[in-house]
Amino acid sequence: MTGTPELRFDDRVAIVTGAGRGLGRAHALLLAARGATVVVNDFGGSKEGVGSDTGPANEVVAEIVAAGGRAIADTHSVGTEEGCHALVDGAVREFGRVDIVVNNAGISQWQTFPQAGADNLERTLDVHLRGTWHTTRAAWPYMEKQGYGRVITTASTGLLGLADNLAYATAKGALIGFTRSLAFGSAAKGILVNCVAPNSVTRPSESAAKPNVVTATPMDAARAAAMATENVSPMVAYLAHESCAVNGEILVAGAKRFGRWFLGFTPGWRDTTEGAPTAEDVVAHWDEIVDEKDYYVPTGTMDWGARFMSHLYPTA
Ligand code: NAD
Repeated sequence: MTGTPELRFDDRVAIVTGAGRGLGRAHALLLAARGATVVVNDFGGSKEGVGSDTGPANEVVAEIVAAGGRAIADTHSVGTEEGCHALVDGAVREFGRVDIVVNNAGISQWQTFPQAGADNLERTLDVHLRGTWHTTRAAWPYMEKQGYGRVITTASTGLLGLADNLAYATAKGALIGFTRSLAFGSAAKGILVNCVAPNSVTRPSESAAKPNVVTATPMDAARAAAMATENVSPMVAYLAHESCAVNGEILVAGAKRFGRWFLGFTPGWRDTTEGAPTAEDVVAHWDEIVDEKDYYVPTGTMDWGARFMSHLYPTA
């Protein structure tokens, strides 16, 4: 018991994309259990994004309804702009508003580089990046009109280095830029935009289709329980809640640990001599350039500029 009042979502309408399985399913179940009306979107299909299946979305809706909750299924693909608009339009038609969008749908096609080609890149960007862009864009005018909204994007610590899943890492990296820039100024409209980087055992975690990945030893029951999708959803629920106090942040959740992922800068080295710095100067000052001591985490681009170029604008 924490003493924190229960986070409720009564009268809130939430769209969760890719909610037929894995993390999205856990997010949808938690929001519904706390009173939200949930639009369970899922296109079905393989983890590589091939095929479609109306089963997963409908099964999660049945689960929510059986537990006394309120939900409808939506089986559009967020991989197309039309699908994203149809999803949001359907939610508004049915329930009159959309308060929460959890952009969670994802696919993963492991392939080495340069074998991974345009098809891999486009298919991955379509679902992760364009799906998030178009779904959020479709919901945005309703949120602005309401003066209220919560948008959650889903990144991945995989972008720290997935040599054989480059398109995935690329799409996830783009979502961080999307989240931070969309959050800029959104709070004044009552809309908060945050990003979750989950860590859980789901379909894509199966290593069979990953080239160059050494298969890990099977997990014991305690580790498997810690890696359950349900251990990620509490962070998503907080970010989706009225009481959420952060905007433009990236939060990591999984294995029963919750943390903040931030973008930090080294103070670096500054050339104070006359004339232009040379490539040899860069080599000579490398240790200072990369020294993480006194690193800073700017709140935004202007804050970064004020710090990085502070010597150009000295204060009196
Ligand atoms: P999952 O495959 O279990 O679930 C993803 C769901 O998205 C599936 O049900 C799938 O049918 C659906 N989907 C795929 N394409 C879709 C489309 N075009 N339109 C609508 N639905 C679609 O995978 P997961 O692990 O639960 O992944 C959920 C999200 O979390 C993804 O964005 C993934 O990249 C991200 N993520 C997961 C982990 C992890 O540890 N599991 C780590 C980092 C990021």
